[in-house]
Amino acid sequence: PEPAPPRPGRVRVNVGPIQVGEGAFVLMAGPCAVESRDQILEGARMVRAAGAAILRGGAFKPRTSPYAFQGLGLEGVALLKEAGRETGMPTVTEILTQEDIPDVAPHVDMLQVGARNMHNFALLKELGRLDKPILLKRGMSATLKEFLLAAEYILAGGNQRVILCERGIRTFETATRATLDLSAVPVLKRMTHLPVIVDPSHAAGERELVVPLALAAAAAGADGLIVEAHPWPETALCDKAQALTREDMAALAAGLRPILASQ
Ligand code: PEP
Ligand code: MN
Repeated sequence: PEPAPPRPGRVRVNVGPIQVGEGAFVLMAGPCAVESRDQILEGARMVRAAGAAILRGGAFKPRTSPYAFQGLGLEGVALLKEAGRETGMPTVTEILTQEDIPDVAPHVDMLQVGARNMHNFALLKELGRLDKPILLKRGMSATLKEFLLAAEYILAGGNQRVILCERGIRTFETATRATLDLSAVPVLKRMTHLPVIVDPSHAAGERELVVPLALAAAAAGADGLIVEAHPWPETALCDKAQALTREDMAALAAGLRPILASQ
């Protein structure tokens, strides 16, 4: 059923035909990186079957090491587009630099700014001129105020379609890849009208922790989740330890049902 219109002063962001925010909880999922046609197609079918509505897949990867797999670039974007069309899901991919916008933007439904680029104001300003939703991830050392000011760079340019994503921050704790700041969800909702989603995958860094963190984010009132999943995680070229399997995706879908039904 169509969700009720957003409350006054709040927004829902359209990603293709999918609405995000204000009671329209959305699961976004897919592999960290697009690796091949088979991988992204099978990955897309797998996450679709678990209830994902938006397909993710990195083509330009911001890897910590310059010697790690950097992504398939525009070929990856084309494969993501094909997989999205094949499975009926709008797509999101990361953009690393403003020079890539003309080649990438026409082929995806949403552009992602990764944690490492949250402070890339030249990129944010260019994205502010687009008519395309932007998934803005929180920098790993950014305060919520800095996060919102980064979003403001996009909004100030005229693009009002921004979705915020908490993905874990750097703390003294080393047991997880990052520390998921769940307080960010209710605090951001108090500070802004924008939809807020959570990426438990990059916070956890480890498959086993992703589902409990995802469920906690839903319970905290997140407008959606973005998770990494792979049809054959043992072969993943990027972030393999945190890639959800088919079974994990089913467990996530099952766990979300009672939480979302109770809200
Ligand atoms: C990603 O989503 O692929 C990614 C690199 O995440 P982050 O920017 O949050 O590290
Ligand atoms: Mn990743």
